Amino acid sequence: MRNIIVCLKVVPKSENIIFDPVTKRLDRSKAENQINEADKTAIEIALRIREKQGGRVILLSMGPPLFENFLKLGVAMGADDAILLSDRNFGGADTYPTALVLSTAIAQIGNYDLVLAGEESSDAALGQLPGQIAEFLDIPQVLFATSVEAEGEKLRVKRRIKGGHETVETSLPVMVSVEMGAVQPRFPDFKKMKWALSQFHLTVWSSRDLGLREEVTGIKGSFTFVRGLSEITPSRRKRVFIEGDVAAKSAKLAELLRERPRT
Ligand SMILES: Cc1cc2nc3c(=O)[nH]c(=O)nc-3n(C[C@H](O)[C@H](O)[C@H](O)COP(=O)(O)OP(=O)(O)OC[C@H]3O[C@@H](n4cnc5c(N)ncnc54)[C@H](O)[C@@H]3O)c2cc1C
Repeated sequence: MRNIIVCLKVVPKSENIIFDPVTKRLDRSKAENQINEADKTAIEIALRIREKQGGRVILLSMGPPLFENFLKLGVAMGADDAILLSDRNFGGADTYPTALVLSTAIAQIGNYDLVLAGEESSDAALGQLPGQIAEFLDIPQVLFATSVEAEGEKLRVKRRIKGGHETVETSLPVMVSVEMGAVQPRFPDFKKMKWALSQFHLTVWSSRDLGLREEVTGIKGSFTFVRGLSEITPSRRKRVFIEGDVAAKSAKLAELLRERPRT
């Protein structure tokens, strides 16, 4: 196996997802962040394939400098290298320029047999990136995998379908997105974590390093724009707790049901 590239996104914890009502963008400044869970699953799958088939596991992320320590966390899990794609021009991107930037970097890394990603991010949750990256790279794609096994020059991928599973065999190189929790991600090694945070040298590539013009990245390279955000109307359910023994509870329940307004 040659290079195994894992696309990794840093996302705010779900309870911290806040949108700026003016810019309609995610407000990361107040959020506590973490590696997207499905991407941790992808890292684990990459490490297991490397253990059997060799190769190098390279983590790749597009985002602001605050993503650096999360990439180092992935290195402490066992990845061989990590690259951050960071540039002011990349900000405000929808999925098209995000996929363009990631696939340009993947092509630049080169020598890859497998590109892994999570099935979707837990913030924007569009699930579009893996398919778009495969299209830009012109390689086959297998999405929503629950298991990935390398067999020589081929890959066997199991994916969930309605009512069962499907096993797909594919040639290399290939893009695979994996379901969150398909395997249990390992914990980062504590000693390696200390080393990664203090000594690991992370590669950072800008748009210039990738040879990408400003107009094709970030908000300028995007085709979709968020025009409105609205909150879900809070549920108007009235929670009533009925106390007492079974007979009293059932009598009270019957009374409440008889009295409830008809709609
Ligand atoms: C109109 C619009 C405007 C937006 N504006 C902003 C904005 O201003 N600021 C902002 O932060 N976001 C913005 N977003 C969200 C941004 O486009 C997405 O975060 C990004 O394109 C990835 O989409 P997703 O999170 O749905 O990824 P999905 O397609 O759900 O992700 C699938 C997998 O792809 C990989 N992946 C996704 N993103 C990355 C990444 N950045 N680096 C490496 N791997 C990745 C991961 O493995 C992930 O599990 C905007 C989205 C839209 C539609």
